Amino acid sequence: MLNVLRRLWGQGAGNQTATIRRQIELANQVALFGAIATIPYQFFYAIADFSLYLSVFLANMICITGYIVVVLFNRMGRYWLASVLLLVNATLQIFVVTSEISTSAGVHFFYFTMASVAVFLFHRARLSIYIGLMVLLMFLFLVTYFLFPAGSTPAPVPAPWIHIMFGVSVVASMALSAVVLFLFRHSIDQTQHELLLTNQRLERLSGTDQLTGLANRRELDDVLEVAWTNVARYRMPLTVLMCDVDYFKRFNDRFGHADGDRCLKQVADALQQVCGRPGDVVARYGGEEFVIVLPGTDRAGAVTIGEQARKAVEALRIAHPDSPAGVITLSLGSATSDRGHNTVTELLDAADRALYRAKEAGRNAVVFASA
Ligand code: GH3
Ligand code: MG
Ligand code: MG
Repeated sequence: MLNVLRRLWGQGAGNQTATIRRQIELANQVALFGAIATIPYQFFYAIADFSLYLSVFLANMICITGYIVVVLFNRMGRYWLASVLLLVNATLQIFVVTSEISTSAGVHFFYFTMASVAVFLFHRARLSIYIGLMVLLMFLFLVTYFLFPAGSTPAPVPAPWIHIMFGVSVVASMALSAVVLFLFRHSIDQTQHELLLTNQRLERLSGTDQLTGLANRRELDDVLEVAWTNVARYRMPLTVLMCDVDYFKRFNDRFGHADGDRCLKQVADALQQVCGRPGDVVARYGGEEFVIVLPGTDRAGAVTIGEQARKAVEALRIAHPDSPAGVITLSLGSATSDRGHNTVTELLDAADRALYRAKEAGRNAVVFASA
């Protein structure tokens, strides 16, 4: 059912920019709603007293046709015409129907609501045009209201039908507003989600982590692949350091995510300073985890640089009252390639296990994987 409706109000909306697509869909939605909501009234007119209600019945038939033409115009790419027709059609319906059956049926609530939704189809119109159209609609509404009070029109609707019609009108106007708002919200959510995915894709493509400016995971994979080739081909040593900020969850909990992000940026900058040799790469591995790749660095070099990195983070003196050290600290696990490692993944795993031991040993420490 929803899919059929979606197909219907999507008429003419394919291959369009998001803004125009929204305009077309909204116009089709309002038009379809207008046509569908008119049908129950038509049943009543036909069953109750066809000769008495003939004129309002015919007027409604013309308006239903008008709503269908709106969808057809959109299908043909005549968006502006479709919007104008929708507005005129709904407004005429307020007038004609109320002039026949009077305001006591409350139908004018419903058509007025519909017409005011249609005003917002004129996207990118000047504010004065929106205000002008709304004022015009309010004026027409008041004119209708005072011109056709109960008992003043040729085809009044008898009780209990008049109450039923009134109820249906109120429910229909509210349902229309609810549907429009729901769909509007849904389309915003979807757009936002698409933007997020695009950003993530662009970030991956660019190879840079947005927050820290370091290499991202994808870039790290490439770097490791090249570095490993050199290990295999030239027996060049390769050291990887797996780093993880200590008690970072507590830091976030106390200071909030924004401060957490700022802290990560500072840690990243400090690591970058220590490992600034050409060929060295500092990457953001995940949330508060970093990987330092040091091609050409052996175990002795790793001891020096690992310790420098640990000290550099400690020296930032970022207050962390919920850590035993009182400041933000870093735990590191280091692994240097040797015959024991067959793949770069094994090397990373070794560094990860060393990091785990550094955590076990009380954190703020560097642990070296045994050769
Ligand atoms: P441990 O010393 O054992 O590493 O403790 P921890 O709290 O650092 O470890 P855990 O892995 O449990 O928590 C990591 C926390 O890092 C979880 C999350 O709150 C935080 N985090 C992860 N990514 C981000 C991020 O991008 N920004 C911020 N602000 N916080 C992050
Ligand atoms: Mg972690
Ligand atoms: Mg941590």
